Amino acid sequence: MPVLINFKICDNSKDCSGIEICPSGAFFWDEKKKTIAVDNARCLNCGKCEKACPVGAIRVARTAEEYQKIKKEIEEDPRKVSDLFIDRYGAEPVDQAFSIPQSKFEIQIIESTKLAAVELFDDGSIMCLLKSIPVKELFKDLDIKYRKIKVESGKLLKRYKIQKLPVLLFFRKRKMIGKIEGYFNLEHKKDLIDAVNTVVAKIDRK
Ligand code: SF4
Repeated sequence: MPVLINFKICDNSKDCSGIEICPSGAFFWDEKKKTIAVDNARCLNCGKCEKACPVGAIRVARTAEEYQKIKKEIEEDPRKVSDLFIDRYGAEPVDQAFSIPQSKFEIQIIESTKLAAVELFDDGSIMCLLKSIPVKELFKDLDIKYRKIKVESGKLLKRYKIQKLPVLLFFRKRKMIGKIEGYFNLEHKKDLIDAVNTVVAKIDRK
């Protein structure tokens, strides 16, 4: 049964993890057509490509019924590739302007003259892509400086007693004034937005 690719959420890149992991060479980069492609005649139906895709764009059908079901799901998927290129809480930064090295934490966050929010995340959180909450929705209407730091050592985790990543830390006038820990997917968008607003409301009252 064939492998189906949902190009509505696939960035169609040469370094696709499906190509890397496929044991039979069935998953490949078609240089002529400049696209990823699957030679179903060579496919072993092992499902490794499906597991390797961080955004769920690769689907392996094992029966004719499953093929029709997946095909329909892809046709009806309202998402689009541009959705991938939005900065999200807990996922790798898309806009590199948000990204700072851990060594700049002091100067960029602690020393910030305005309210600053820093998100600490680790590698594994890229798996959250597409299911995470867009940053622009989190900080809508707030005058805030937002930066992302990929955790390079346990120093900050220890200093701020962080149990779970990703975490959002809020700083004002050199002091930490709020901490929101853990991953929130789109279903919990309201919870995360409410938590951010609770932190900000505390500042307004001071
Ligand atoms: S199911 Fe296995 S053999 Fe088939 S394309 Fe995916 S990784 Fe390759």
